[in-house]
Parts: sequence; C-alpha cells; structure tokens
Amino acid sequence: MKHKFIAKRFWKDYSTAMSSSQILARQFDDCINLSLGDPDLVTDSGIINAAFNDALAGHTKYTDFRGDLELRAAIIDYYKKDLGISIKDEEVMVSCACMAMNLALQAILDDGDEVIIHAPYYTQYPQQIELARGVPIVLDTFEEEDFQINVNSLESLITERTKAIVINTPNNPTGTCFTRETMEAIARIAKEKDLVVISDEIYTLYSFDNPFMSMLNIDGMKERTIVINSFSKDFTMTGWRIGHIIAPDYLITVMRQISEKIIFTYPAMSQRAALYAMTHRDEIQPAMREEYKSRVLYAAERINSIPNMSVLSPKGTFYLFFNIKKTGLTSQEVSDRILKEAHVLTLPGNAFGDCGEGYIRIACTVGVEKLGEAFDRIQTMDIFK
Ligand code: PLP
Repeated sequence: MKHKFIAKRFWKDYSTAMSSSQILARQFDDCINLSLGDPDLVTDSGIINAAFNDALAGHTKYTDFRGDLELRAAIIDYYKKDLGISIKDEEVMVSCACMAMNLALQAILDDGDEVIIHAPYYTQYPQQIELARGVPIVLDTFEEEDFQINVNSLESLITERTKAIVINTPNNPTGTCFTRETMEAIARIAKEKDLVVISDEIYTLYSFDNPFMSMLNIDGMKERTIVINSFSKDFTMTGWRIGHIIAPDYLITVMRQISEKIIFTYPAMSQRAALYAMTHRDEIQPAMREEYKSRVLYAAERINSIPNMSVLSPKGTFYLFFNIKKTGLTSQEVSDRILKEAHVLTLPGNAFGDCGEGYIRIACTVGVEKLGEAFDRIQTMDIFK
C-alpha cells in the first residue's frame, strides 16, 4: 500500500501465499488444512515440563548474547555425535530460523549483491533477500531432474555481484533431498567462484532414504558456509521460535551484533526447552519421524492412484509437491477448485516460484485418517477423473 507514512520500499505488496491461507481455511467448517508447514503434533511433554521447571528455577532473564551456554554445548555435541562435525563454541549462535536468515544475509550482503536461490523455493526467501538489500536470482529445478540443482544452470547465473547461494535440503516444498553429487558440485562451484553457501537445514530429521548430510560434511566448506537450523520442525516446536546458526567465528560475531540490536537475546524458556529437546533427541525424535514418514508415503500412494495427478516417491520433509499438469488447468485454478469442491486447502505450486506452475503443495500435517478423508473428497472431483 502507498502511504506517506510507509517507507517507499514497502509500497509494494510483501504478502505471501502463506499469509492468506489462514483466512481461506476459515471459509468452510469442515476444511482440511494442508497448506501450512506447522506440524500438528504438540511439542513433547518432557520438553514442555523442562521449560516450565527451568522457568520456575529462574531461567526467566536475558541469556548470553550467543545463547544459553548449556544449549550451545548441546548443539556442539549433536554435530559431533550425529554428523561427525567438530564445531567450536565461537562458531555457534542461538537464534530462530527466520531471523537467522535475516542475520546471515545482513552480515554478508552489500547493497545490490546477488543471492542465488533454487526454485521451487521457501516462499519467504526472495523478500528476505530484498529486505537485506540484496537481489534474489532464481535457479529453476525440475521434476524430471528430481528437483536437484543443475550445475551448468547454476554456473550460468553467477556474475560479478553473486555473493551467496541459499540451499535447502531436505527441501520445502518439493521434498527432495540433494544427493552427495549435487552437494559436492555446489561446493566445488562455491569454492571456484568464492561464494558463501547459506545452508537451510531445518528438515534434518526428515531425510528418509539416506542419512542427512550437512553442507558442513563436505571438505573445505566450513569456512564458507552458514548453516541455519531450527527446533521448529525437527522437534515440532514452531511456536517456541528457536533455532541455531553455525558459521565461521568472524561472521557469528557480526550476526550476534546485529541480533543484539534487534532482539537483544532470545526467549530464555524456549532455549531451555531446546536444551531438553537436544539432550533427549534419541527418545523424542524416532516416533515423530516415523509418523511423518508414514503420512507422506500414504499420501503419495493416494496421489499416484488418482488420474491427472502424480508425485515422485517421497525422499524427505513432510511436504508433497504433486504434478497436476494433466488437468490442463493452472495451479491456482486447481488449488481453488480443490478448496471449493473438496474443502481441502492446498497451496498452488507457483507460490514457490514460476517453475512451480503445474504443481500443488500439500503439507502432511494431519494424520493418515484425515489425509484419507481429504483424498476421498478430492478423487470425486471431475478434474481428477
Ligand atoms: N526455512 C524453511 C525451508 C522453512 O520451511 C521454514 C518454515 O517453514 C523456515 C525456514 C522457518 O523456520 P522457523 O519457523 O523455525 O523460523
């Protein structure tokens, strides 16, 4: 909206498909909402109780600027034990994933620097880059290539102004997981062209076919990688707004300084909850992972049994990005009709970048029974006959 009191750079519309989906879901009493990546499972009660008890014990104050010391130690321990990566304390900072992206971009970008993002992308990335005065450059990926990054296409987008590439694997929205070859190719180009890699690894738990591999696992990448991770999805803790950053110490120092100005420190109780989550991950995570895996496998089977829609076999996350090109309609038209006729809320694929046209994204954030009901309704629609 244009208004003399609004800074001119916000005169253009910054809303995303995510912001409007909440309103749409309220249209029908029996709406099944598969639009948002907010896991339905309530945070493990052990985590909640630990946060509560720690609050009673006095963890109600500002914390260290880089986060609760015990939580930082637990994060370091996790990288060592689960991923075989050695991290120094100065290379860790507690944050929250959305904020972490802003801190990372602000720390590395000069005005007009370019940042490559692969599409279909997490809807916030382009504007997150613009807010940090950078220029998003979109690299399309394709179903025919398993939504992996095509190295030649990546190289062709690099200019004098390219500062970084943002990668996200396991991926929202496609559910793909980058292969070791893809990761090594990105790393090779980053080194050759002297780029920073911002690796958004917030779906670490949901890598189904192969063990999760961080960009930090690739030789020589630690010195040019900023890892963003979060407790939101890996522990169903979206409302706690807590996560972490791993980066070279000099970048952590800059991000800490920016963060101090914006938020001072992160919520102490959420950090204590995250500490309990990290130190009890072996008890908490396996059941969650199996639950979401069984949902995506079930939903994929249903999709592939319905005419005019198809999906690749699920590899990671709890999203499915299915192809509806055979309907002859646009993603928006199909998504609108699914809402109107089946009362199921989905997101049109083009909300994740132009190359998402012809696809629909669902988040499997309801149980198998509800997913079954959603597909029972969808398969009665004319366009899927
Ligand atoms: N990155 C990706 C790829 C996401 O899908 C999301 C949330 O859906 C985020 C970042 C933001 O995570 P958080 O809610 O922990 O800030």
